Formats: sequence, structure tokens, C-alpha cells
Amino acid sequence: MSSIKYMGHVDTAMMEPHVSGESVYYEQVDINNPSYACMAASCGLIWDRRHLAEGCEAKGHASTWWQGYGGGIVNGIYKPAKSYPRTAIGKLSKDKLL
Ligand SMILES: [Zn+2]
Repeated sequence: MSSIKYMGHVDTAMMEPHVSGESVYYEQVDINNPSYACMAASCGLIWDRRHLAEGCEAKGHASTWWQGYGGGIVNGIYKPAKSYPRTAIGKLSKDKLL
């Protein structure tokens, strides 16, 4: 069970999926989302998605990583059509983690 803390709503963006025939394309749209801090292992990284805060520990508390969208499996390897960086929107100071 990951430890996260609600940090208030923030303006952010998401990639919204659209189905066109048999393919899916993504379009960036503005959203207002709850943000959460990862409280595990004195991490303190703040994310604009609950699932990113919950999954922070599994990613080794990395502040940036790449997420693939679309694409498909080629020779057993997932090849995304596009990749975007997932970046923490902030980090709690040490005194807030105690
Ligand atoms: Zn973390």
C-alpha cells in the first residue's frame, strides 16, 4: 500500500484518446486534477495524477520518465507511436515529510 497525500487541485493537461476507424489517436486537453505527493521513503515528489503518486515507488521515485501512447507490438516489443515525459510537478521540502 503506497502512502500518498492530497496536495490540492492543479491545472494540468491530459492526452485524450479518440477512436478513428480502427485506430486511436490522442489529443492534448486542459484539465483540473487533484495532485498527490508520494510520501514513501522520504520521496516527496508531487504528481498531477493519483495513479502517478501511487506508482512513484514502483518507478524508483524517478522525477521524470517516458510514457508511450498508441503504437503496437512489433516482433514482441511494444513500440509506441508517441512518447511524452511524465514529470513531477514539485517536491515537498524535507521538513514537510517528517
Ligand atoms: Zn516517490
